[in-house]
Amino acid sequence: MTAHTSNHRARTLFFQPGERNIFFHLLTGCNLSCRHCYINPDQHGRGPVSRHELMQWLELFATPNQESNLIFLGGEPTLHPDLVSGVRRARELGYRGITIDTNGYLHHNLLARLAPDEAVLSFSLDGPTPEINDPIRGAGVFATCTANLQQAVAAGFDVSLIFTASRMNIDHLAQMPALLEKLGCRRFFIQVIGIRGKSARPTDSPTRPQTEPVLQLSPEQWREIVPQVAADAAARGIRVIYPKVYLEAGEPFQCAGLQQQSYFIFPNGRVYLCPLCEDFPLHAWQIENGRLVPNPGLTERQLFTLEIAEGCVMNKLLQPGNIDYDPQGRPRHRISCCLLKQEVQP
Ligand code: SF4
Ligand code: SF4
Repeated sequence: MTAHTSNHRARTLFFQPGERNIFFHLLTGCNLSCRHCYINPDQHGRGPVSRHELMQWLELFATPNQESNLIFLGGEPTLHPDLVSGVRRARELGYRGITIDTNGYLHHNLLARLAPDEAVLSFSLDGPTPEINDPIRGAGVFATCTANLQQAVAAGFDVSLIFTASRMNIDHLAQMPALLEKLGCRRFFIQVIGIRGKSARPTDSPTRPQTEPVLQLSPEQWREIVPQVAADAAARGIRVIYPKVYLEAGEPFQCAGLQQQSYFIFPNGRVYLCPLCEDFPLHAWQIENGRLVPNPGLTERQLFTLEIAEGCVMNKLLQPGNIDYDPQGRPRHRISCCLLKQEVQP
């Protein structure tokens, strides 16, 4: 840790009216098989969106009078043959920031086909060395991802790096800022592992051995390690974003779902407002024949309106282990919306 860390305090990025983020999963297929993959083909579909759907759905979510950020994800979005056409169509439609979240393989020769000002590239890496990253993400992944990230930097792309923190790698998070500095990456997203996809499967699952440790961080690990690492990264000139998780006394609770400002689109046409709901058929909307129609019956929308002392309702239902109670049974902290972020500026 450097001596400057106390100068780099986190500020909360409260949701702003009019802010809009479109998370577009183009496919669920991937060339990797990460241990904590959150993709759930039973719920999200097995095939990619067609070229026609890609173009039609981009139009469906475009709002000419409102700024929208667009994030292409998968599976691995660079496996989709029409990704570059999708980026260009999105620019024509007025999407403001366009990001491609990649596992680093940059299929279909992406760097040669995309201009650096057309999209930001966000690389996922879960460890500072192959010894930490590759048991989580796959053999050889560290070398490929870091080499392609450096090529993207050299080509003039704006890049960021996403680290998904879990018990498998939290002890090595402190080494990441030095790696980002070396790679020339100036933006760092620390993500917290969620109980979704593979992480949500019971330990007696055939795909997850009995010996698999619990992946989620303890509240102590999160609060003690993450802010310090973020401050260290900022001292090295890196902007850091990480989830808020624990609200301080007096801080307002906001549910992004109520504000309908983030949309999570899946290849089977489901559209969620809350990422914690993605393992269940609770999606608020469904795309049918190119139109956005409400999903009838019980959906995530009914959950958003429930007010509880613990803060986020879905957190309480899915991962109550991160809530501490005092001897009177009152929660010591409310849990923020999982989409609420902290930012530490250089
Ligand atoms: S790169 Fe992403 S989509 Fe592919 S296996 Fe890993 S977590 Fe899942
Ligand atoms: S994570 Fe919680 S607070 Fe955020 S949208 Fe979902 S239910 Fe609402």
